[in-house]
Amino acid sequence: MPDYILAIDQGTTSTRAILFDHRGQPKSQAQQEFEQIFPHDGWVEHDPEAIWESTLSVCRKAMEKLNIDTSHISCIGITNQRETTIVWDKNTGKPVYNAIVWQDRRTAAQCEQLKADGFEDMVHAKTGLLLDPYFSATKIAWILDHQPGLRAQAEQGELLFGTVDSYLLWRLSDGISHKTDATNASRTLIYNIHSGEWDNELLELFNIPAAILPEVLDSSASFGDTNVFDHSIPITGIAGDQQAALFGQTCFEPGMVKSTYGTGCFMILNTGDQAVDSQHRMLTTIGYQLNGKPSYAIEGSIFVAGAAIQWLRDGLQLISKAKHTEKLASKANPDANVYMVPAFTGLGAPYWDPQARGALLGLTRDTGIEEVVAAGILSVCYQTRDLLEAMNKDGANLPDTLRVDGGMVKNNWFVQSLADTLATRVQRPTITETTALGAAYLAGLQLGIFESLEQLADLWQCDNTFESAIDDNQRNRRYKGWLEAVERVKSKPELTH
Ligand code: ADP
Repeated sequence: MPDYILAIDQGTTSTRAILFDHRGQPKSQAQQEFEQIFPHDGWVEHDPEAIWESTLSVCRKAMEKLNIDTSHISCIGITNQRETTIVWDKNTGKPVYNAIVWQDRRTAAQCEQLKADGFEDMVHAKTGLLLDPYFSATKIAWILDHQPGLRAQAEQGELLFGTVDSYLLWRLSDGISHKTDATNASRTLIYNIHSGEWDNELLELFNIPAAILPEVLDSSASFGDTNVFDHSIPITGIAGDQQAALFGQTCFEPGMVKSTYGTGCFMILNTGDQAVDSQHRMLTTIGYQLNGKPSYAIEGSIFVAGAAIQWLRDGLQLISKAKHTEKLASKANPDANVYMVPAFTGLGAPYWDPQARGALLGLTRDTGIEEVVAAGILSVCYQTRDLLEAMNKDGANLPDTLRVDGGMVKNNWFVQSLADTLATRVQRPTITETTALGAAYLAGLQLGIFESLEQLADLWQCDNTFESAIDDNQRNRRYKGWLEAVERVKSKPELTH
């Protein structure tokens, strides 16, 4: 058996390829950014050709760094930016429009209309999602309607739809495999996560012809083979990025949870074979699917996590580098009662107040840069607690351990504060490239390189464990201060001060 698994991590701003050995250790990595296209306010697109070119280029570079050719690669796993939508011509292979990126809001009015017409409950019951432009369905319909003739072509089976995994698979397999996995399908708003099928009622609601849809497989499966490099390689693992991170963190038991702290933060809690319905507008989704059996998850997201640190750096210019925040925050007065609510684009889960805007509260004459920086970092901790409390109210048991990854977790002061705020043990793994690792694990499982989930769970290694170092009184007083700060920035405050 060849020596390496190639993980392709196709993200929103860059594409990465990582070669893992058969014990799951990263051995070589390459990364390339590509253009973000903003044709109008609220519109975000990618050129699918640029996505494809960057993918080929990083795969080749990762191999060159190890000085190997593809005969050393046993299989490929793909993980990808989710919901981003591509429609292409089956015969020419050409996309009929740019990829419409998950952040794109162009179909907001259509979603509002469908909500006003009373469809959200039905859509939510079937998909676990909300009627929001974020998901693929309204983007697909927009592409089919933007030019005369496309819808007819789609109905005749001339066009294909795919999320980015599916498009890459189709290109890698030279137009043979039109497939996706259940985690990616579960983000489209037309896939029924309970029956495990594209849903006819939803296809009709969004006006999407079934002929364009990919076949949905498990996350570990034989998706196809690629011959674009010098030897044929099977593609045997696919999952959306946040789900791949859940898998890479080996959160296989119900109640296990991971949080990824990049620009935003995505928390995913494994709920096993139970699809838990959130009363707090968190999403129910498929965490991974193996042997035809979905493992469900609840997902909560924070819009502004590392972006709060970026704002301290680029907006306020208080710091020149994100990493300087660690030292500064550690010098802050712990009793300062300064709060930053980074509601730059509104408040997400569990408040859902798009009109709210950010604030710095509790400033006094002795407030310094240290306290403001600490407040920025702590805002991410408090928002994490908000999510966990909401998941708890939804009937999920609160975990005793949170596994973290993403760019922010290099900051020890942040991770310690997270443990303090949550009264939960927080663990940082040695490999923080958990997204790519999850894709490699899924691919390797299919080929028997990894034999079982138990074996993968044993491979997970802890770099550091953080336990709460403050008492309940302190913790609750600080969190109460946060909740009061949030009340003050809400567009319709419930409390008066
Ligand atoms: P993404 O994948 O969303 O681009 P990354 O996982 O690469 O994000 O993380 C980058 C984010 O982490 C940035 O928002 C940056 O401000 C933040 N960040 C990076 N290093 C630190 C640090 N030492 N302390 C606090 N925040 C950091």
